[in-house]
Amino acid sequence: MRIAIIGAGAAGLFAGGHLARFGGDVTIFDGNEKCGKKLFITGKGRCNITNACDRENYLNNVVRGQKFMYGAISKFSSSDCMEFFESQGVPLKIERGNRVFPTSDKSSDVIKVLQKFCESAKIKLKEKVVAISQKGDCFLVKTSNAVYNFDKVIIATGGCSYSATGSEGDGYKFAKMLGHSVVKPCPALVPIELDERVGILQGLPLKNVTLHADADGQHYSQFGEMLFTDIGITGPIVLSISSYINRAKTVKLYLDLKPALSLEQLDVRLLRDFDEGKNKSLFNIMRGLLPKNFIELFLSKVEIDAGRKINSITAQERARIVKLLKRFPLAYKGLYPIEAGIVTSGGVELKEINPKSMESKLHKGLYFIGEVLDIDCLTGGFNLQTAFATAYTCATAIIKEGV
Ligand SMILES: Cc1cc2nc3c(=O)[nH]c(=O)nc-3n(C[C@H](O)[C@H](O)[C@H](O)COP(=O)(O)OP(=O)(O)OC[C@H]3O[C@@H](n4cnc5c(N)ncnc54)[C@H](O)[C@@H]3O)c2cc1C
Repeated sequence: MRIAIIGAGAAGLFAGGHLARFGGDVTIFDGNEKCGKKLFITGKGRCNITNACDRENYLNNVVRGQKFMYGAISKFSSSDCMEFFESQGVPLKIERGNRVFPTSDKSSDVIKVLQKFCESAKIKLKEKVVAISQKGDCFLVKTSNAVYNFDKVIIATGGCSYSATGSEGDGYKFAKMLGHSVVKPCPALVPIELDERVGILQGLPLKNVTLHADADGQHYSQFGEMLFTDIGITGPIVLSISSYINRAKTVKLYLDLKPALSLEQLDVRLLRDFDEGKNKSLFNIMRGLLPKNFIELFLSKVEIDAGRKINSITAQERARIVKLLKRFPLAYKGLYPIEAGIVTSGGVELKEINPKSMESKLHKGLYFIGEVLDIDCLTGGFNLQTAFATAYTCATAIIKEGV
């Protein structure tokens, strides 16, 4: 059985290795000069390969495609993923939030193992696929070098962000060529641009805050850490929120800067601070509540001069401060461009794919795996787990049919 895999990324290599080991005549194409270019930069070069959690927890971290992934994650769980890499000679460690990394902290170790796993497959690098068509029972795969005939084609071309890694959205083009619908790709896990000047705060982290978003009538919130950029905000809670609001037409963002305290508790705390520092400036008192560099922006929104003495602050002004600490508005402008997304949301319409095999319902012998599908997850190793689980589901379905 001649099988073409388009893309030597996480999903393509994983499927290719399984198929070749079971005797499939596998050819993996990639436009790049080496395998796994995106994998190399994952987890800041450390590659967070999966999340050590159960199926329910995994599914809770799938933003789009949750129902579709039920079967694949049941077939190939995160413990299967960990077992696979350890059995192939990559010792692993589990960090905060159950994130799983190679003990070596090197994504290159993960790539090496996947490449070795594919040793019985042909890997054709610097050979970009430009078109795919069906001819009778076969598929014609046209590349930058030649035209090939295959019995089966697996499209594993990834999304369309960080395009320098080779993932340029070609899979969507191939899917459309073959009559598939593609849900419009948009950025996910991406920073947010603000419609106000925050450049002066660039690099400033805010810890233990809750970011709230009201988006087209839905409410989302994330607790944790964020960071200002030159034109907006980023960091874990911002990236997560972005994946939920990326299709909304109207978005309102605000921060709860003291989520551990209710409005009433915060008022009591402020009253105590004011009592203890009657002759201090407001700026001084606010230093106990907020990072120094953030106070100016905060007080400009509450319209009280930072130099005012505490004993001159009225009860109404104190109430305004308390209210703003609990609901600090951020002027939402939009998401950063798709290129900056850690993943692409959208992709090949899941209704047209069999979740038990990843095979197209329109063309027998055509498969889609990994990020090219309309599936995206939160950070924490869930996106690579998705790539591996869809690849495994596809490979085992083909092996069952006979390679
Ligand atoms: C900066 C960054 C950090 C990340 N960190 C993590 C992390 O730590 N953990 C996690 O779970 N996820 C992480 N992700 C997401 C994760 O990398 C992807 O979801 C995952 O790589 C998708 O795997 P894939 O095989 O579907 O696609 P890819 O890994 O993108 O592979 C697709 C391959 O197809 C090739 N290709 C595309 N078009 C063609 C063509 N026409 N012809 C031939 N070849 C082609 C590309 O060159 C590429 O090699 C990160 C993403 C980024 C951008």
